[in-house]
Amino acid sequence: MSAPQARLVESRDPSTGEVWRRFDACDAAAVARALQQARDAQPAWAGAPIADRARVLERFRKLLFARRHEAAELVSRENGKPPIEAMGEVMLVMDFARFYSSGKALRALRPQRFTPQSMAMWRKRIEILHEPLGVVGVIAPWNYPLMLPAGIVIPALVAGNAVLLKPSEFTPSSALLLGELLGEAGVPPGVLAVLPGAGETGRAITTCGVDKLFFTGSEATGRAVAIACAEQLVPCSLELGGSDPAIVLASADVNIAADGILWGRCFNAGQTCVAAKRVFVEAPAYDAFLLAIATRVKELSVSLDRGSAEVGTLIRPQQREMLQAQLDDALAHGARVVASASGPAGVFAPTILADLSDEMRVMREETFGPLLPVIRVRDANEAVRLANASTYGLSASVWGDEPQASRVARRLDAGTVVINDALVAAGLAEVPHGGVKRSGSGRSHGIAGLLECVKTRTLVHETLPGKPQVWWFPYGGALAAGMDAFLSMAHGSGGARLRGLLGARALVSRLKSRRR
Ligand code: NAD
Repeated sequence: MSAPQARLVESRDPSTGEVWRRFDACDAAAVARALQQARDAQPAWAGAPIADRARVLERFRKLLFARRHEAAELVSRENGKPPIEAMGEVMLVMDFARFYSSGKALRALRPQRFTPQSMAMWRKRIEILHEPLGVVGVIAPWNYPLMLPAGIVIPALVAGNAVLLKPSEFTPSSALLLGELLGEAGVPPGVLAVLPGAGETGRAITTCGVDKLFFTGSEATGRAVAIACAEQLVPCSLELGGSDPAIVLASADVNIAADGILWGRCFNAGQTCVAAKRVFVEAPAYDAFLLAIATRVKELSVSLDRGSAEVGTLIRPQQREMLQAQLDDALAHGARVVASASGPAGVFAPTILADLSDEMRVMREETFGPLLPVIRVRDANEAVRLANASTYGLSASVWGDEPQASRVARRLDAGTVVINDALVAAGLAEVPHGGVKRSGSGRSHGIAGLLECVKTRTLVHETLPGKPQVWWFPYGGALAAGMDAFLSMAHGSGGARLRGLLGARALVSRLKSRRR
């Protein structure tokens, strides 16, 4: 039996539990109304010159810049991350707006026109068009409540689509601010609808008849969304979870690696899809790395005071309970806590684990909080093998000297690999983001993400429309001989090519004899 529709969704301060805003959840009827409004509004939006849509994004970027402190405070208050991290999220949204209004992005949407390289098709002229899909659905998680929806909504809009956006039930206000600012910048009414709600609202968007669904969230929900989309043959893009490896080579500066990996793991209190969740360290560097990261984790400022914390609370107590269960499972199977930060009750203290084994949940599942297993490996080959053993493949990092670090990076089965840094790829507007294996399919961000928002259509023009084609009926021996000669001319080499050229004359005379 499915759970009843939650009628209200709330903005809540994760540090205090205080509810500071409530919204009615959108039911299926509200979603259907929004879809109709979007269908009505989309053609005019798509019909406007693309430069006009780019100007809207530019205005949006300026408006967000002007209200950046308010936006960062809102994200921080709703999501629980320190304001400085929330400001980083605001910055990335401005980066997205700038990239998707740039000449590079607009050029990628321009029609391409060319003569095909096939010699047989010399009379054709090709036009490839990138046209909006129509109305797309975007379902977002709570961990980056402004940046993640923006990274898909912005390219979808500039490509000429209308969008139904459903934010996480934990973070509706951040997405509503995004919608408000885009509206103020000039996105017409109906073109972007922000629809607060929980799973039922997400299901309604998935099944209401959108032209494509962009889902970002957990593997379990992603699977349900993919099944629902498959049943209707609605295309979907899935950005799912990860268990990213970080590989520390013997050549690495262990202090730099410890600083970077700890930051990446604990940023946003460890609630980041692309955070390192398993660290593999080559044996010669292992003891020094473990000592370095153990020392640093104890120095972290862990607090319920968002203003002063480096690591704050997880978004909801249930998240803490899930992470604690994964930690308990590891300890029950023989893992050892090397060091942990100290913090108040209610905050999951960042914890470093050693003595791991494959059956432990922390090695097989995504851990969504500041818990970090560190594993000693013989060499880089073993690190690569264990890193790739995961069912996930979102991203990874490698720490150590070049060119070895790059060679190792190329062998990792992950959508993105960062060398000597953590997290940054997912925030680069021009870099395609997305995973392999159970981390999803499709790409967001970059030109690849923009092209996910269009349907590519082709027109094939005939330049001599009054003349018949040589391959039309009737067939006959002359065509077969002429075709073979033509193939030798087009794909043969040396003498065969020359003989083909002479023989292909038969095709020309066939063509002449058929002229009307
Ligand atoms: P979640 O799967 O619980 O929820 C994601 C969204 O789906 C929410 O808006 C939710 O309301 C909605 N939803 C729930 N049931 C639905 C249904 N049946 N049909 C349609 N929509 C439904 O995920 P979460 O807890 O919000 O986010 C954390 C997860 O997201 C982690 O696994 C994390 O790794 C992943 N994530 C991935 C990326 C990426 O880019 N790959 C980015 C951020 C987060």
